Amino acid sequence: MKAAVFNGNDLVIKNVDTPTLTPSQVLIQVKAVGLCGTDLAIIEGHLPTPTPIIIGHEFSGIIVEVGESVDSAWIGKRVVSEINSNIDFSCYYCERNIFTQCISRKAIGIDIDGALAEYIAIESYLVHEISDSLSLNDATFVEPLAAAYQTFEMMPLEDDDKTIAIFGLGKLGLLILQIAVFKNFKVIAIDGSEKKLRLAEEFGASKLINRLAVNNISQKIRESTNGLGADIVIDCSGNPNALVNVVSSCRTRGKIHIKSTHGLGTPLDLTDLVVREITIYTSRCGPFRKAIEGLEKNHVSVKELISDIYKFEKIKDAFANYKKDRDIIKIIISFES
Ligand SMILES: [Zn+2]
Repeated sequence: MKAAVFNGNDLVIKNVDTPTLTPSQVLIQVKAVGLCGTDLAIIEGHLPTPTPIIIGHEFSGIIVEVGESVDSAWIGKRVVSEINSNIDFSCYYCERNIFTQCISRKAIGIDIDGALAEYIAIESYLVHEISDSLSLNDATFVEPLAAAYQTFEMMPLEDDDKTIAIFGLGKLGLLILQIAVFKNFKVIAIDGSEKKLRLAEEFGASKLINRLAVNNISQKIRESTNGLGADIVIDCSGNPNALVNVVSSCRTRGKIHIKSTHGLGTPLDLTDLVVREITIYTSRCGPFRKAIEGLEKNHVSVKELISDIYKFEKIKDAFANYKKDRDIIKIIISFES
């Protein structure tokens, strides 16, 4: 089969063996894969992985074969897959049903081979069926949407929490924004792309701030929150320099939720956080069933987030554009001919 393999230096399309199944696995014919900042970080050498590795972890496809201990009724189902594989079901976290933090877990497309290939073998317990109403392209958003829902699973909300400021309107920021609007929060959206800000407005953001056009972002946020700052500030920017504004935009006794990692050397005003008793939350992978339901019930819309669809053979062009164009939200790699 053809696969996009990162060899430690470069991403290459090459022929590799189609995976053979263990008894507990299913073979998925991959139909669509969403590119993610993590994929870019891997091929640019910022995120160490074993090599060679097939990258890609936001995907949808159709089950074409099952291992001997898996129900054959799965064959032909349209599915998406969670990314934390090799779960031991016995560690401290598994005993508490926190499988995404299993000490044995290996992430698909990061620690073990991923989905930018014609086929992928997946443990059957990771697979979720999707309804026919959900397109295979839209279904690639289930994984990031689950992570977006996890923001609200990990952060207890209080009656005084009315305003959410979201820094960074990439895929994750715009998904969280839609959930926040659905939950009736007043949303302040911050980004450097006018195109993304307009989209945030369409999704229901009540205030837009172009970070490249204002001198003092936190002052702008305080101006629209009775001088207090936002009750909740969510960082989806992936930009270490944004965190200074994230902290200063949060009200005293407010909450900060960090959704993107920034690497080393992130400047953070700990004194301000302590003096104003601000709580920091973080979260990553989330509930797949909730994300599938959110899409199937149209609580969240993802069509507007698809910036471009590339054929698998054009994957290098896809990554090149993803890197250079600030307005790109999501690129999908399609295996449909
Ligand atoms: Zn475990």
